[in-house]
Amino acid sequence: MKDFEKPEDVRIGVFVCHCGSNIAGYLDCKAVAEYASTLPGVVFSTTNLYTCSESGIAEIKRAILDKGLTRVVVASCSPRTHEPLFRSSCKEVGLNPYLFEMVNIRDQCSWVHMKDFEEATEKAKTLVRMGVAKAWFLEPQEDLEVPIEAKVAVIGGGIAGLSAAESLADMGVSVVLVEKSPHLGGLVSYLSSLAPHFSSPEEVLNPLIARVENHSGIRLYLGATVRGIEGYVGNYRIRIETREGEELQETVSAVVVAIGAKPYVPLGLYGYDGRGIITQLELEKCLRKREGDALGKDVVMIQCVGARSQKEGEKSYCGRICCITAVKNAILLKELFPDTRVSILYRDMQTYGSDFEAMLWKARSMGIKFYVYDVNRPPEVREGRVLFKSNIFSDEVIGLPCDLLVLSTPLIASDDATAIANLLRVPVDANGFFLEAHVKLRPLDFATDGVFLCGSCRFPCTAEEARIQGMGAAARVGALLSKGKVVSSAIVAEVNALSCCGCKGCLGVCPYGAITYDEVKDVCEVNPILCKGCGTCTGVCPSQSVQLKGFNPKQLLSQVHASVESLKEILTKYERI
Ligand code: SF4
Ligand code: SF4
Repeated sequence: MKDFEKPEDVRIGVFVCHCGSNIAGYLDCKAVAEYASTLPGVVFSTTNLYTCSESGIAEIKRAILDKGLTRVVVASCSPRTHEPLFRSSCKEVGLNPYLFEMVNIRDQCSWVHMKDFEEATEKAKTLVRMGVAKAWFLEPQEDLEVPIEAKVAVIGGGIAGLSAAESLADMGVSVVLVEKSPHLGGLVSYLSSLAPHFSSPEEVLNPLIARVENHSGIRLYLGATVRGIEGYVGNYRIRIETREGEELQETVSAVVVAIGAKPYVPLGLYGYDGRGIITQLELEKCLRKREGDALGKDVVMIQCVGARSQKEGEKSYCGRICCITAVKNAILLKELFPDTRVSILYRDMQTYGSDFEAMLWKARSMGIKFYVYDVNRPPEVREGRVLFKSNIFSDEVIGLPCDLLVLSTPLIASDDATAIANLLRVPVDANGFFLEAHVKLRPLDFATDGVFLCGSCRFPCTAEEARIQGMGAAARVGALLSKGKVVSSAIVAEVNALSCCGCKGCLGVCPYGAITYDEVKDVCEVNPILCKGCGTCTGVCPSQSVQLKGFNPKQLLSQVHASVESLKEILTKYERI
């Protein structure tokens, strides 16, 4: 810090949080606050039981006003969860929120040094010293604001996409709905009935489709393909090829991906032929037409076909809804054709939730037989019989007569998933399903701002779940649009055009596609709305031309210097040098 010219009027306040006993139980908070009061520039320091509580926030605000603080340092938990709260508290009393610095003495100190009170205290002092050193060089920043129009594209016209489109249009949002096939409804339109209440797909779909088709807020492109997507939240430009072969562009503020999934076709498994040996989806089509005579009296279903398998070409995951589908179809078969004998061969029945569990017990009560098969010796189909070993503790082989064999296969990622993922620069998992920002905290968002997902393109789900997810995604978009603007953090990278040599090193490493190259000026530029402030680009720039606001060399080196000085003092104190 001594090498840098210090700014004037720096008055730093330090607030050391006990976090109940999370921090105070493992280090001496009072000693840390007293130490902070000796650091250059610190005019006020204190401890709080919970700095994030109403009284803790009130104390920060009061100190800013009464002590004339120009910088605030809070030593507590993680900035990931609490930095926005502290920043907005500073802003409420007129201090620029970027003149706030957070020091993590919980996750990175008390929690990892629970058995060493004294050393944890010394480390906390060092961390606070580093925070104070950086606070000297903090600069006021302004958040970026971009106005957004209430216009959204929904890609996919299955039940999830229809639900999202209708919910958004009902909020007054203009919706562009793009569906690849010539009709709406997706996979649900091929089903015979919907679990767990055996409602008719038409009863659910037809009114929904009619509302979407007739909604004045929805522009529908059927038989159309998304050819290109560029831009960022508030300004996505989507190129659509219509079924007539015309190419047009729509500009929207957000995108909902709802392209669904497709059934796995079990080629080469159990003699699948699409006639006497069929999939559950093919059985659904027969049941829709109430075709019973052709099915035969003895129906056997085999679960986990092509699923939960490490074999090449098969899927390692549980299809999640195949057991529900099998039980539902078995019940429907018995209801339509009571003389039919139905057996289900399974590894584990995955009928989650009370409604699906009740469906399973109903199936049992109707005389549908359930047999566990040994995964190491899967069933064999021989001369009109299905042979399997039902008990891993005995070698008894059971043979079931079989007129119709139904294979329960998983849904797999849509053929278009990779192309859409590439266009939107959003991730897919190892199986090609889209990967949400956070499975629990942000299950319907992508990490990319303004892009959302719902339905079976995320992972196989029931029609009811797809509908709920579609509505949920619409709510997420609504929350974004309701503000009329996008506010982005000021902590973004910027390129110094005078020193940038145009080597494009930064462009290649940015995970968010926030950097572009200007051929005329021969420099790279950062789009501040797309930039997530990850800092990756700053590490590769040979001329230090790209820097991250809030993490510039002066700020970082002041922290390094403080930590070295602190280490020297600790070593002296413990007489190790
Ligand atoms: Fe891209 Fe991260 Fe650099 Fe921003 S800070 S431009 S997101 S690499
Ligand atoms: Fe310019 Fe640095 Fe990016 Fe190279 S890495 S293009 S010098 S900003």
